[in-house]
Amino acid sequence: MADRLERSRSALLKLKRMIVENEQDFIDALHSDLGKSPVEAYASEIALTLNEIDYLLKNHRRFLKNRRAICRPGTTAIVSRRPYGSVLIMSPWNYPFQLALLPLAGALAAGNSCFLKPSELAPATSGLISRLVADVFSPDDVCVVEGDGSVAAELLSQNWDFIFFTGSERVGSIIAEQAARLRIPCILELGGKCPCIVDAESVNEVTARRIIWGKFFNAGQTCVAPDHLYVEASALPALLEELKNQLRLLYGPDHLLSDDYGRIIGRKHFDRLLSMLSDGTVYLGGSYQTDQLYIEPTIITEPDLNSALMQEEIFGPLLPIITWSDQDQLMHDLQSRPAPLVVYAFCRDKHLINRLQDELISGAFCLNNVLEHVARAELPFGGVGNSGYGRYHGKASIDAFTWQKTIYKKSQSFDLRLKYPPYENKHLKMVRIIRRWLP
Ligand code: NAD
Repeated sequence: MADRLERSRSALLKLKRMIVENEQDFIDALHSDLGKSPVEAYASEIALTLNEIDYLLKNHRRFLKNRRAICRPGTTAIVSRRPYGSVLIMSPWNYPFQLALLPLAGALAAGNSCFLKPSELAPATSGLISRLVADVFSPDDVCVVEGDGSVAAELLSQNWDFIFFTGSERVGSIIAEQAARLRIPCILELGGKCPCIVDAESVNEVTARRIIWGKFFNAGQTCVAPDHLYVEASALPALLEELKNQLRLLYGPDHLLSDDYGRIIGRKHFDRLLSMLSDGTVYLGGSYQTDQLYIEPTIITEPDLNSALMQEEIFGPLLPIITWSDQDQLMHDLQSRPAPLVVYAFCRDKHLINRLQDELISGAFCLNNVLEHVARAELPFGGVGNSGYGRYHGKASIDAFTWQKTIYKKSQSFDLRLKYPPYENKHLKMVRIIRRWLP
């Protein structure tokens, strides 16, 4: 055990050093892949991962400690956490650094050896991770393989001890099927449409600033971004006005010129997003530049509820707004949609807050803010239903990347005779009486 902990600690320290020593290269790679600003890249990718590593370095010994389960005379039982062994981690392109290296930190802290398949759609970051990992780690501990879906499919056919997948629902289903076929345990971190509910009393500058920031961070390509807004009908004009002001304040009068506003990952996603522009009335924005893969932050009112904009995960800088005026109807609409990663609410109405928090199924509920809950190593992160299953971050990562072994030991000095056949009638009565002390 001591050896295992020392190996994990050393792996975490190596990973941390690799990141810290190459911070600027990672920031440049993230800019090249997604046009991320240095602050955005550092805060949402590098800082988050370093904080997770620090948290694991501080706590992994405690999280991995054997747990004493039963203390009875003549019996000891402990639950020991064991690493799965060889873990396959597959990651997407939208946070190509963090979504690869943060689960890697958890898997290493738990004592596994890891095989990482970053996304081919973020080649600068993927290439850098691959090069640096090869320099820093022995291939027996961490190995990176670059490539597209066909490489991923080939990897999937191998006999892993555990699979950790972050990505789309479509590919998630392929992973789950293959994992089930080979009886490999897995975690799926998928996407979905995270709603954000606003009541009339909460329409103000702070609400608008937080929504604009969370929606247009990374040009909307965030699995936990507010996908669409439900605003109380009477407050729609006021909210639109506040959102417009905040867009101007955060990204300037010409968003194309803002260094802080990102780009769409590639042509396929760009075209997909453009096709959604006609699924409602463009209230603000709507312009784009194909050569730069730039789509202006866009607010859409009166979206067609049956359109792709309202049926599929948007994953881009389009913000449709729906109105509501009746709480029961609102709850009914929300409940009829697949379970998202998170439900956001900017509300003062306590009754509504309680209903949104308690009656909806979602990976998380977040009041008066967006995105922030994901950045805390103390909080487990993951989806439910269509948005996936399993949890990671902090202790949840240790739980995710280990299995529990029960170790039960009994002394031979006392052996209760009546549990063995042949049984007599009186035995049943006695067993009933001593039920609590069995076995
Ligand atoms: P994706 O599912 O297309 O790809 C994810 C990974 O799977 C990539 O490494 C890719 O190469 C690999 N892959 C592709 N085809 C495969 C196949 N046939 N078999 C095996 N592997 C295959 O997802 P994406 O487009 O990279 O990412 C966007 C999606 O990820 C969105 O739905 C988003 O919501 C979701 N996401 C979820 C989280 C979360 O934490 N829950 C975080 C970020 C993104």
